[in-house]
Amino acid sequence: MNSSIFHARKAKDFIAPLEADIVRLLSELVRTDTVAAPPNGNETAGQNVLAEFLRSYGIVPDVYETAFVSSSGHPYVRPDRDYRGRKNLLAATRGSGRGRSLLFNGHMDTVPPGHGAWTDSPWSGVVRDGRLFGRGSIDMKAGLAAQFSVLCALRKQGIRLGGDLYAESVVDEEWAGGGGTLAARLHGPRPDACAIPEITNREVALATRGGAMIDLVAEGGDAKRYFSNEEVVSPAIAVGRLLGWVDSWVERRRHADRGEAYRDFQDPAPVQVLVIEAHRMDYSEPAHVPLTAGVRVYFQFLPHEDVPAVLAEVRASFDDFCGRDPFFREHRPLWRPLFNPPLLGHELAPEHPWSQCFVNSAAGVLGDRPKVTATPYPCDAFLIHREFGIPTLLFGPSGAGAHNPDEYVEIASVLDTAAVYLAAAMEWCGA
Ligand SMILES: [Zn+2]
Repeated sequence: MNSSIFHARKAKDFIAPLEADIVRLLSELVRTDTVAAPPNGNETAGQNVLAEFLRSYGIVPDVYETAFVSSSGHPYVRPDRDYRGRKNLLAATRGSGRGRSLLFNGHMDTVPPGHGAWTDSPWSGVVRDGRLFGRGSIDMKAGLAAQFSVLCALRKQGIRLGGDLYAESVVDEEWAGGGGTLAARLHGPRPDACAIPEITNREVALATRGGAMIDLVAEGGDAKRYFSNEEVVSPAIAVGRLLGWVDSWVERRRHADRGEAYRDFQDPAPVQVLVIEAHRMDYSEPAHVPLTAGVRVYFQFLPHEDVPAVLAEVRASFDDFCGRDPFFREHRPLWRPLFNPPLLGHELAPEHPWSQCFVNSAAGVLGDRPKVTATPYPCDAFLIHREFGIPTLLFGPSGAGAHNPDEYVEIASVLDTAAVYLAAAMEWCGA
């Protein structure tokens, strides 16, 4: 029997007795509001739940302030965020010193529940048909529960790995923050490899995309002229033409050089309109021509792309479009990035020892070779992989509804994720 098969069997045996505890931790985390709404975030409430769980296994976590990141001078610090009182959590099991070190990274913040209709409360943690529902269930409290349970399982079995194993829960990942992960790398550790249990539906993702959101806001109307004999100029119709310009970029980006990781994606570098805003269709607003109108456009970038160069090209095309439009020539719309600098993608080679180790471990646990793919979203991975040179991949549970109502995770997939992470840790760090 080769070692990855052996470790996979052991991992399943060691995770099985923790099943009830893992589900209980996940449920408690989902029932704890850890919403981040810039500039603030309520992650510390969740870190406290996690810390208590770890202590019940005899693991004493390091729960530390992240506010120092604001004055670190790192180019990825978001100056619009307030980190005071927002804490990261780090747990470690020290190895014998004869193996490679490994980090599991997950984020504690969630997006808000939104205004859509939920079947149950967003904080219910209710279980139906093997699915656990609630905001943050799949994004990514299930991943957190899985990764920390690996340390608990090792502790329970009294196993010491060769290399150090770390698991961290960070703040400020949503809204392109990255501040929690940045604080975590500056604080340490800086291990030999990293895995992130974001939603991947039990596939191994070796690459992520970059992203930028840009608000394009036009002003045209003059409120004082309304109900006078003068014509009120509405920016809304002009913004309709602006959508046509966005659509030209949807088409252009569809033909971007897709590279290796996104080879099989239908739309490798999507351009999406997230918001069209002009007025509200309800009686809380009196009938009048809107004074401002705008769109929020979301560009994603491939791992190999020069993101600032692509954005400069988009900007030049926007300026050109505005110069030729009869309304925008007079009323130049604002170009307002939601976050700056933009997120980058990342890519780990399939031949890299960490990729191979992880895929073999996952195959051993799942019984089948997992699909090796890339994520359809950006995340913190590039910060760890590119800014700090730590080879990073993603593998996480199955579920749906992230950033939408009725978000859920499939509980069986959380246990699979835990076992895969444990098997990979034994294989990578040495056991
Ligand atoms: Zn996430």
